[in-house]
Amino acid sequence: MRLVKPYMSFPNALVDAAPAYLGHFINGEEVLDRSRTGDVFNPAVGEVRLKVGLASQSTVSDAVTAAAAAFPAWRQTPPHKRAQILFRYKQLLQDNAEKICQLITAEHGKLIDDAHGELGRGIEVVDYACGISELLKGEYSKNAGPEIDSWSEFQPLGVVAGVTPFNFPAMVPMWMFPMAIACGNTFILKPSERDPSPALLLGKLLTDAGLPDGVFNVINGDSDTVQHLIEDARVEALSFVGSTPIAESIFTRCSAKGKRVQALGGAKNHAVILPDADLENAVNALMGAAFGSCGERCMAISVVVCIGDETADKTVALLQNKISNLKIGPGVDASNDMGPLISQEALQRVTQYIDKGVAEGAELLADGRGFSLAGHESGFFIGATLFDKVHPDMSIYRDEIFGPLLCVLRVDSLGAAIKLIDEHEFGNGTCLFTRDGEAARYFTDNIQVGMVGVNVALPVPIASQSFGGWKRSLFGDLYVYGPDAVRFYTRRKTMTQRWSASSATDKARYAFPSG
Ligand code: NAD
Repeated sequence: MRLVKPYMSFPNALVDAAPAYLGHFINGEEVLDRSRTGDVFNPAVGEVRLKVGLASQSTVSDAVTAAAAAFPAWRQTPPHKRAQILFRYKQLLQDNAEKICQLITAEHGKLIDDAHGELGRGIEVVDYACGISELLKGEYSKNAGPEIDSWSEFQPLGVVAGVTPFNFPAMVPMWMFPMAIACGNTFILKPSERDPSPALLLGKLLTDAGLPDGVFNVINGDSDTVQHLIEDARVEALSFVGSTPIAESIFTRCSAKGKRVQALGGAKNHAVILPDADLENAVNALMGAAFGSCGERCMAISVVVCIGDETADKTVALLQNKISNLKIGPGVDASNDMGPLISQEALQRVTQYIDKGVAEGAELLADGRGFSLAGHESGFFIGATLFDKVHPDMSIYRDEIFGPLLCVLRVDSLGAAIKLIDEHEFGNGTCLFTRDGEAARYFTDNIQVGMVGVNVALPVPIASQSFGGWKRSLFGDLYVYGPDAVRFYTRRKTMTQRWSASSATDKARYAFPSG
């Protein structure tokens, strides 16, 4: 059954009492497509919070039709008028921040202040997109030839789509759509089916800010829904963020259809600790980077490489002490340090990796298995896990686990640490802790990783830079947000124009025109 109703059930109903069923947001209306549904859990209690629609081919097609219909007027809307809507949007995001973050915590499980952190990073992209008039300015060459002027402009692509992961249900969509619509495109978001509610509220607030219907749409769904989007020839480009196998497959499938595609994948981020590092500060930073958001961040630190046994022994002792004091509990309680994992499957997966680490011979110093919280026995909680003396051949080192599991490796030089990182499949983020400027410069200059920190454990670029990894952490050429987003969401057109001062008739010339 397919129904259309005004979106008025948002946002209060989403927060105060979850609706039994969550639909899609197409052309400014909530669309109910109940042909297939999925369960959305509250990870802190392990119970189904609501059912979400998994869009059928016809619902995907309706969304594309709405976005295509909205495109001609939107692309002609002056950039500064688009920016005015984004300015109002930014204000509405700030006014509704608590509601958005409650939804994030209810469905993702992360701490409420962590949710505010991710939303804040998303709002920074809206801020950046408000400068679109400046960003879209073209390039002009006067007198490119005799009486000839030439210029380039950056035109929007049309209907573009975004497919996003569960771990940042507000921020990662906001890496994409503010810049896409600021550039004059219309947008279809397919958020994660595991925590879809924040995206619908983000869409409703865009409508409240004055965005014309159809410019931004949300379709909920799974891999089938994404396939329908890929097969629709009217979708010009797709931005994807998720795990590496899916990113690679999306890149291949979209490329085969001639779509522009950027697909950001998984990670295994190493922190390197030199003997001269300020260890107390380094370990505090590592605790947040490894165990914040239960390790479910693509920039999470999951490997610590210590230079020398003395550095390793001291680092491990500090980590063990802090792990034993980690407060684990539901994200709604601001006094907690770490919330639950997203799902029962994630809990099983991380548990199995701890089993494997033990079987592979790593030294288990903190064991997160079997963690239970009174009153939340069915929640997807796990404790923080620390392995020392991990070897590069072990699966706990090679694989992205995406949970609160930290591996310590011991090497004898910075060169050996760099070699280790460079040989790893992923190249999303890394950081070095040191007081040695020469070492830091060598590291940032040579390391084969896309985002590098020095004494910064989570080097997530600000909105005016761009975000992306190297190697199998990114399929495509352009990063998300920042200047790269203008290039990804526009197509260059170059005009060459001649206006002769005289009325003299030109002779036919058969040589290729030059100078
Ligand atoms: P995922 O790959 O399972 O899902 C991501 C999205 O793809 C979801 O919307 C999902 O519905 C869709 N999807 C799933 N299977 C699909 C298929 N076969 N075909 C098409 N679409 C499909 O990822 P996840 O578990 O939601 O998120 C965690 C992963 O995302 C981790 O690997 C993490 O490192 C990665 N991630 C990367 C970045 C980055 O910037 N590189 C940022 C955040 C998360």
